[in-house]
Amino acid sequence: MLPLETAREFVLDRCAARKLERVAVADALGLVTASEIVCSEDIPQFANTAMDGFAVRSADVADAPCELRVVETIAAGHAPQVTVGPGEASRIMTGATIPPGADAVVMVERTSMAKPAGTAAGGADNPETVRVEVGVPPGNHVRHAGDDLQAGAHVFGVGTELTAGHLGVLCSLGMTEVEVFGRPRVGVLSTGDELVDDGSPLQPGQIRDSNRRTLLALAHRADVDCVDLGLVRDDPDAIEAAILTGVDTCDAIVTSGGVSMGDFDYVKAVLNRIGDMRWMQVAIKPAKPLAFGTVGDVPVFGLPGNPVSSMVSFELFARPGLRSMMGHPDPIRATVGATAAEDLPRRVDGKTHFMRVLATPKNGGIEVRSAGGQGSHMLWAMANANALAVVPDSDGVRAGESVDVLLLD
Ligand code: AMP
Ligand code: MG
Repeated sequence: MLPLETAREFVLDRCAARKLERVAVADALGLVTASEIVCSEDIPQFANTAMDGFAVRSADVADAPCELRVVETIAAGHAPQVTVGPGEASRIMTGATIPPGADAVVMVERTSMAKPAGTAAGGADNPETVRVEVGVPPGNHVRHAGDDLQAGAHVFGVGTELTAGHLGVLCSLGMTEVEVFGRPRVGVLSTGDELVDDGSPLQPGQIRDSNRRTLLALAHRADVDCVDLGLVRDDPDAIEAAILTGVDTCDAIVTSGGVSMGDFDYVKAVLNRIGDMRWMQVAIKPAKPLAFGTVGDVPVFGLPGNPVSSMVSFELFARPGLRSMMGHPDPIRATVGATAAEDLPRRVDGKTHFMRVLATPKNGGIEVRSAGGQGSHMLWAMANANALAVVPDSDGVRAGESVDVLLLD
């Protein structure tokens, strides 16, 4: 049996990012930058106020309370027209430019209008007057130009996953497009004569195809574009046709079933003929069998058919492979430390077990308990699990002991 790390290294070596694309910032969520982003201009570009209030000369309010003549009202988005002179202030709204002459802002809550509302105010001969209650230091509530980013600054390096906040920064920089590693198109197909996917009554020996929907959903969660390549019978010609369609139209293919030792495991025979495949027995449970290789230059993940195995195999191999194709520098999900809230028993068998568990916060850490049946056909427990406990080859973990977990999406 191959150690997990060896098998995964083999996969990742063949899943390099290749497609560079310029995409609209609007479409870039979850994609990974392919070039460095450098700040073209100061953000913010101009000194502005963090508060609604009055722009003042700080020296004027040193002996507050005091009264100042209001010479202008400055709204966000409008340039100030008047210089604030000694004994003067401009009413200013959050985000508006600090007017020349002023060096600080007094928030509106620390002021009152010296003339009661309703009294004629404004105009050169009858200016409004504001009473300032507190003194403020220079720079008070002023957001200086370049506070957030300065022109020339390194903003995001190559390999940055674009999250909501990143997209906002790109918009702040005035970018409408960004260079990224393209989203791979991933085709998913199921194989098996026993499978039914149309809701019709089951004939003897039939089961329903659950893997395809699940694997498409996992691929979707991995931020790739998904293509449903359908349900294919255990027939070599049909399997070959489906895989060749996938190779023509997709950047990667995920299959489930037909990669074990059974008489009708034709996926294996077909991929051996048309691809450059490696058949692995990985020292993990579930998901020991893995077929991985390329047809042309398209990576093919031949995942095992058992529903839980196919999901765990996707998590351990396909997700990192697809993320690597998307340019993620760290495509493998990191484990976190947790405490077993109950015994997680297993037998010594030379494999690392990925047990389906429920992780919950406890005393600032995480505790885990079994999510239910651990058979590789027991999809319900997998559906209820939000984590996989990584239990090394041993007789298991006792309640209170620590255990590494993979927190699933
Ligand atoms: P196989 O690898 O084809 O021998 O399949 C292993 C087990 O997984 C068998 O019990 C299959 O019936 C089951 N299986 C294979 N494909 C699917 C699928 N798409 N949905 C649900 N179960 C499946
Ligand atoms: Mg099968």
